[in-house]
Amino acid sequence: MEPFVQHLAELCVAHPTRAKWVFVPSRHIGHTLGDRLVLAGTDWANLRFVTPFEIALQMGAPFLVERGIDPSEEGLGPALMMRLLLGLPESHDYFRPLAHQPALARALWSTVTELRLAGLAPHDLKADAFESSAKHEEVKSLLAAYEGYLAANERGDRATVFTEAAKHPDWCPIQPQDCWTEFADTMWSPLERRRIDSTPGDRLTPQPSRPAGAKVPRRLPGFAAPALPGLPPKKLKASFFVAGGSEAEIEEVFRRILASGTPLDQVEICAASPASPPLVWDKCLRYEWPVTMESGIAAAMTRPGRALVAFTEWIEDDFSAGKLRKLLQSGDVRVRAFDDSLSSGQAARLLIRARAAWGRDTYRLALARLARTSRTRADRDDIAADERDSLKRRADQCDAFAAWIASIISAVPVAGADQQIDLQQLVDGAVTFIREHAATTSALDRAAAQGIARALRELEALGDFRCSLAEGLRFLSERASSVTVGADRPRPGHLHVSSMRRAGLAHRRQFFVIGLEEGRIFPASFEDPILLDKERAGISNALARASDRIDEAVFAAVSRLAAVALNDDVAMTFSYSCRDLREFRETHASWLILQWYRLASGNPAAGFRELHDHMGAPKSCVPESPDRALDSSRWWLHGVSRAGANGHAAVLGHYASLARGQMAHTTRASAQFTEFDGHVPAAGLVLDPANADRVVSPTQLEDAAACPYRYFLRRGLGVASIESGERDGDVWLNPMLRGSLLHDLYARLMRRCRGEKRGVTSPVDTDWLIAEGERALAELASEMPPPSADVRDRETEDVLEDLRLFATAETQASAAGAHPLAFEVAFGRGEPDEDEPMSRLDPITVDLGGGTTLRIAGRIDRIDQVGSGAKATFEIVDYKTGGYYAPSWLGTFAGGSRLQHALYGLAAVEILKAVHKTPTVSGATYYFSSAKGRQSRKQIAAQSVAKVTEVLSDLRGVIRDGLFVHAHQEKACSFCSYGYACGKDPHSTAHNKHDDPVLAPFLKLGSHE
Ligand code: SF4
Repeated sequence: MEPFVQHLAELCVAHPTRAKWVFVPSRHIGHTLGDRLVLAGTDWANLRFVTPFEIALQMGAPFLVERGIDPSEEGLGPALMMRLLLGLPESHDYFRPLAHQPALARALWSTVTELRLAGLAPHDLKADAFESSAKHEEVKSLLAAYEGYLAANERGDRATVFTEAAKHPDWCPIQPQDCWTEFADTMWSPLERRRIDSTPGDRLTPQPSRPAGAKVPRRLPGFAAPALPGLPPKKLKASFFVAGGSEAEIEEVFRRILASGTPLDQVEICAASPASPPLVWDKCLRYEWPVTMESGIAAAMTRPGRALVAFTEWIEDDFSAGKLRKLLQSGDVRVRAFDDSLSSGQAARLLIRARAAWGRDTYRLALARLARTSRTRADRDDIAADERDSLKRRADQCDAFAAWIASIISAVPVAGADQQIDLQQLVDGAVTFIREHAATTSALDRAAAQGIARALRELEALGDFRCSLAEGLRFLSERASSVTVGADRPRPGHLHVSSMRRAGLAHRRQFFVIGLEEGRIFPASFEDPILLDKERAGISNALARASDRIDEAVFAAVSRLAAVALNDDVAMTFSYSCRDLREFRETHASWLILQWYRLASGNPAAGFRELHDHMGAPKSCVPESPDRALDSSRWWLHGVSRAGANGHAAVLGHYASLARGQMAHTTRASAQFTEFDGHVPAAGLVLDPANADRVVSPTQLEDAAACPYRYFLRRGLGVASIESGERDGDVWLNPMLRGSLLHDLYARLMRRCRGEKRGVTSPVDTDWLIAEGERALAELASEMPPPSADVRDRETEDVLEDLRLFATAETQASAAGAHPLAFEVAFGRGEPDEDEPMSRLDPITVDLGGGTTLRIAGRIDRIDQVGSGAKATFEIVDYKTGGYYAPSWLGTFAGGSRLQHALYGLAAVEILKAVHKTPTVSGATYYFSSAKGRQSRKQIAAQSVAKVTEVLSDLRGVIRDGLFVHAHQEKACSFCSYGYACGKDPHSTAHNKHDDPVLAPFLKLGSHE
């Protein structure tokens, strides 16, 4: 039996009724030891486990309370250090300039606590102990400021309690007739040590579990405690294994637990590295194993913790839309907007569409703009009813989402004239954010949300403190990172996860030590960032130095493992991972595992080679035999990995979707045009543009001809393409936005001149157009801020230059007798357009013959009259605001992907009948009006109705027959955002199937050049 437990058992036998006190580092340890004694059959009564602080509290608290002194918030420390440091005179320039760094605040708090618990006051810090007088002054002032804070706010910390307790020895609950002992080899603080040493009653010295040869740390208690005879045991029963990764290591442990048939409450996993407990926790959640964690889980790893960190980063990054989008996509927040039906993913996509940038106002302006344009499009554009509904719904979502964001942003205080905020307001905003918006999907998340909110509330103790927003955010981050949740002692029915310092206390039959990689177990030998070793030695011998920290950690680990090894009924297993899959590097076994291997093998000269030979191949997540699988997925993995290609049939037989995927892959590679390539006749019947309830636009039809497959994805399946959401730091106006802005301005200039019954005249119209352009761009800049002033200036100048070019060209055209007639002429929208008297409510109908008609709606950029009187003809003008590349504009119909000129021509004839008896459209011009397009014009003569009807019939046939083949023109894929849905090289795949007679209609459509 472990010597200390034996010591307690003997104490209970020797003094059955006498009060027996045991000083332990924590209540959890006391409970665990008490349980262990009972389970080992020791009857005990009057055995009291207490911490030195609990005794001090009983002695000192009544006097503190009488003086009105309340306990100070323990967790407040780092935040308080920041505040106190900032409150020091500016002449302090050693640590003060770094006061806003949470890591420094934590280190300072740790040092101040250490000094306080060592019983040291500012006057104990002598100048000659310090390397620098500035540092001496600052540390001393900070300690004094902390004492001043406690006094001014009538607060007392742990050191206050110990100091007060020392003044009232009569109040000690441990009486002279009692006996007491202490948990062996505990590294108490000096004030704890003094409290223990001044306890009345019989002191009983425990036998620690010190192995022979172990280096005893310098700061351990002065009383003699020899190494335990027989420790380490001459021959140790232990197993060893290596795994290919940390996850595989834990899975192997779990498999061994299952194989042993040991109940979970007889199993302890000792995590040598702090990285392991969260992984064990995750695995336990996955397999629904009940577990207790000695150290708990950092709240920062839970959803509310991650959400708060992301929230502070978002604010710090000036509310940047990119950060908010990532926060939404993480699933760590819940959007409470639009009847809670707006998912976080949809909200993230709205941000992308709205092109929100950064700043408090960006969301209100950008989402309002998106709502407005969506409603305008829904009301104006010639789109299908479902698309119209979707646009209206999007607009409503924008409004609700903007209100949700506004509620969060408004809770973040705005800096005053002094550039500072009220910290308490920021805390209120953060607590509200955690309570109302952080996602919680488990009990742990809920506990973390409460723990973080509580920790944030502790900042209230700082009172009406003002600081910069950045500093306030660091206060929040620091508080959130200090919270752990779910720490618990070993309990019946639960697997227990412990640390090296507390390993094996519960005496469980299966004991695993995991994560024994070199360099991960013990602290690095760095000196403390605040007080160097030399300074510590100069101040007090009680302060820990870098070597002490390593010695103490090694000693605690070795002693605890030695104590476990003394129990014959405990099976020990040691393991490590030979690969760090997160950092993609190899890792190596620690000397600790080698030492235990030497003991177990009885070969004190054994080296790592022997250890590796003994352990064999690294374990993986795939079990070595099916009966060792932890669940069905692992069982399958085992089978599949063993069977190789022979297992395909069995796997595909059970997983229908995999089999379909495999079949799709094979079929796509064939020369046949199949359902896996887009042959979906059933969808063709639904999407047939000639259906009576359907109104189509020329753009829709062109899109279908350019790539029927994309048309099917978009219109048939309703699949939206993935947008990256990253704003290009060099671009403000994307081509669509720029084009729409120019179209609007062109139309306004032309209508203005038409209203005044005159042609365009420079410079007056140029000036007017430039002024309107500047106004529109300024409005846009407030709703959608440019990424930089440089980008704004450059793009503004480009747009204005395009406007200048347009006005100049129109002035020349006017002088030459041009007669522009109508602008942005909508037809088939069902609603009148007040700005354009020639707009037409009804769609135009194209007769394809055989009783089949197409109903078409759209918007013609411009109709010009050519000539006058009865001989006048008309021309369609379609503005293109991008570049012009002549080879791309060869031909007339481009396989059906260029239809506007023809369809708008047919529409114009119908529209013009309102003002002309027998209107004739002579042709259409694609006018590349910008500098980029060099004001090029591609003119296409009017096509016969028969020819247009033929092209439309062929296109309609492709859709109706469900021939949704991939584009076979490589250029169609160049700027397509649906590439992820098409696999590699879709145009070649499509091309390989052209000999299939099913595709004859598609090839015929392509022949219309
Ligand atoms: S990537 Fe090419 S084949 Fe695929 S949908 Fe886009 S245009 Fe069509």
